[in-house]
Amino acid sequence: MSKDWQQDINWKKVDGMIPVIVQHYLTGRVLMLGYMNDEALTKTLDTSKVTFFSRTKQRLWTKGESSGHFLNLDHIVLDCDQDTLLIQARPQGPTCHLGAESCFDANKAQGFLGQLEGVITQRQSDAPESSYTASLFAKGDRRIAQKVGEEGVEVALAAATGDKQNLIDESADLLYHLLVCLRSQDVSLETVLENLHQRHQPKD
Ligand code: AMP
Ligand code: ZN
Ligand code: ZN
Ligand code: ZN
Repeated sequence: MSKDWQQDINWKKVDGMIPVIVQHYLTGRVLMLGYMNDEALTKTLDTSKVTFFSRTKQRLWTKGESSGHFLNLDHIVLDCDQDTLLIQARPQGPTCHLGAESCFDANKAQGFLGQLEGVITQRQSDAPESSYTASLFAKGDRRIAQKVGEEGVEVALAAATGDKQNLIDESADLLYHLLVCLRSQDVSLETVLENLHQRHQPKD
């Protein structure tokens, strides 16, 4: 099965080997970079397992073929000048052969909400004196739940009165307190995004 955009790839420019950035389909975390020839891309589309052309092995390489740590295809995007692919994938286990989730530094290769979730988790375990986040955890689950309720109401009020700057401020408050609430209940942001993704019907 070939896709319409597959014909648009500027194979001449990339010398038959297109660079592919792989990112986590939910968190946007950058997982790895590889190269594909037309055959690798076709195999990826046919099997839904991300398959590269390995320059080291000089053959098609399905990521996970020996480790079982496959990258399950979710979505492929071609860039503006048709010489780079972005693949969104659901990883089965760690993507890096060194055992890490990403080949790039775990804290730097993810989106901002994920980074913030990491900071919140740190504050929960380190509990520094000066930290507002740590003080929230100290007050307990009920107080945190109450904060989410308050911030939710503040967002609604800002929206109802049409005060856009207030809406932005309160939405930021809500997102932060929601992340604290999720952490205090031991639910990851990824779990919530997964739930949202399952309800999502892609149009292409
Ligand atoms: P796998 O494809 O996961 O079964 O791994 C097979 C071999 O491919 C490993 O032993 C590594 O040499 C190489 N490899 C696996 N994952 C990566 C990666 N993310 N980046 C570069 N090389 C990798
Ligand atoms: Zn480009
Ligand atoms: Zn790696
Ligand atoms: Zn607020």
